[in-house]
Amino acid sequence: SEEKSLNFIEEIIEADLRDGKYKSILTRFPPEPNGYLHIGHAKSICLNFGLAHKYGGKTNLRFDDTNPVTEETEYVEAIKTDIRWLGFEWEKECYTSDYFETLYEYAIRLIRKGLAFVDDASAAEIAEQKGTPTKPGVESPRRGRSVAENLDLFERMRKGEFKDGEKVLRAKIDMASSNMHLRDPVLYRIKHASHHRTGDAWCIYPMYDFAHGQSDSIEGVTHSICTLEFATHRPLYDWLIEKLEIFPSRQYEFARGNLSYTVMSKRMLLQLVREKYVSGWDDPRMPTVSALRRRGYTPSSIRSFWDKVGIQKRDNLIDVGLLEFCIREELNRTANRVMAVLEPVKLVLTNYPEGQEEWLESENNPEDPEAGSRKLPFGRTLWIEREDFMENPAKKFFRLGPGLAVRLKSAYIIRCDDFKKDAEGNITEIYCTYYPESRSGQDNSGFKVKGTIHWVSAAHACTAEVRLYDRLFSTEDPAATEDFKACLNPDSLQVIPEAVIEPALAEAQPGDRFQFMRKGYFCADRDSAPGKPVFNRTVTLKDTWSK
Ligand code: ATP
Ligand code: MG
Ligand code: MG
Repeated sequence: SEEKSLNFIEEIIEADLRDGKYKSILTRFPPEPNGYLHIGHAKSICLNFGLAHKYGGKTNLRFDDTNPVTEETEYVEAIKTDIRWLGFEWEKECYTSDYFETLYEYAIRLIRKGLAFVDDASAAEIAEQKGTPTKPGVESPRRGRSVAENLDLFERMRKGEFKDGEKVLRAKIDMASSNMHLRDPVLYRIKHASHHRTGDAWCIYPMYDFAHGQSDSIEGVTHSICTLEFATHRPLYDWLIEKLEIFPSRQYEFARGNLSYTVMSKRMLLQLVREKYVSGWDDPRMPTVSALRRRGYTPSSIRSFWDKVGIQKRDNLIDVGLLEFCIREELNRTANRVMAVLEPVKLVLTNYPEGQEEWLESENNPEDPEAGSRKLPFGRTLWIEREDFMENPAKKFFRLGPGLAVRLKSAYIIRCDDFKKDAEGNITEIYCTYYPESRSGQDNSGFKVKGTIHWVSAAHACTAEVRLYDRLFSTEDPAATEDFKACLNPDSLQVIPEAVIEPALAEAQPGDRFQFMRKGYFCADRDSAPGKPVFNRTVTLKDTWSK
């Protein structure tokens, strides 16, 4: 078999293990609990947990909860559910907020070393001082404060003596550095806000850059993997690790996973939820893990998708068609075939005895002999798909029309003799003759037909609500446009209130997956009620977008 070549992070890890730099590796997945996980996060999850799994290491789940204002416990729970659903289990559940005391001590350590100072400058003044990448910055007038004064002010910041924005703690590095992150970055800010875990214990909070690398170090993370935009922050993390003399976690950056026809920023997704463009974080059109689950995606299809994409060092946009390919391929192997008619029209077999019924054997999945078969009820009156009949059939229309013959899946060959229309010209009934000797599996009729259509026996049919989804956005990269909400696809949801289904489907449980023959793969939704299921279309049978 062909060995897959190593990605660049695997190469680094293999070298580190070979050289004895580490005996075992520790990675982490560090979400900020300010929204639900999306398919991009799943890339980072598959990578971090996947590496630990491959090399016999471990992975921590760390909630990066340094911002008291945007974080909520609801998100913490949703994130844990999604990671487990994707098939991964963390070693330790950590919270950056658990390190607030240690981080505070680290800040004191820097002040003592003369490497941090308390500044009175506003955010605007600090931005002004920083200058531009081509122009050196200006040192803050408070940069020369004594260690004693800084220790006193920082302690009073913690005690709550100052208002939001009145003071900050800044690192003392280099206002002329070509790396803007090294121009005396802010380490702590004052925020009189309640935190979802620490409550009112703190009114100063560490900045992301002062918490992130240090948390990795505290936990002993060997390979701290993050997305490319943090590459320019790495020199700051390394500076802090060096000056604080703490465990040297090393950061590696890879390209974010971006998917076409959607947005992947929690900020934008939150807007769609708050402004009710979607029904919630798990609206099946959303790119969140919970939405994909509800839509009918499997954990393995998502893992296989990211495995196919691989790990890059340059940002790119991945065709959502590849994700659809992965789930389609899996469901083709695993989903039972059933019959559902989405837009029903009545068909009567005029030579089939009134009141008679029979139960026909139907194979559940031709791709899986183990899936067995089931009994399908058949009778004189059937529902078929409206689009399977044409009053004036086009040349290559191998379905029904006056004089045309088709096979009813798992049943008989029928020929259309006549039909009836209402006053508006809509077809209301189709009349056919069936050929008793053409029964599937024991056909000795000698007839050959080109088309096979699906159907449901009217006397036995149940009904279901069916939800068909299209892409949420009509633009390939909505986040790159001026107004991503202007790119929303107005036809992304089509609800069919009463599709007819074979009786076996009536008791489908939320999460059950099926192939509706000729219509796509569907998954029972949590809105299902006993006897009245609701189905979401996961994906069509074929890629209907590319030709
Ligand atoms: P967003 O902009 O969606 O809020 P984020 O990076 O701010 O993304 P975090 O909760 O901080 O969200 O992300 C947790 C982890 O997941 C981080 O390590 C981050 O790098 C990674 N991550 C987030 N989005 C993606 C993505 N699209 N592809 C790969 N990894 C991602
Ligand atoms: Mg983040
Ligand atoms: Mg974010």
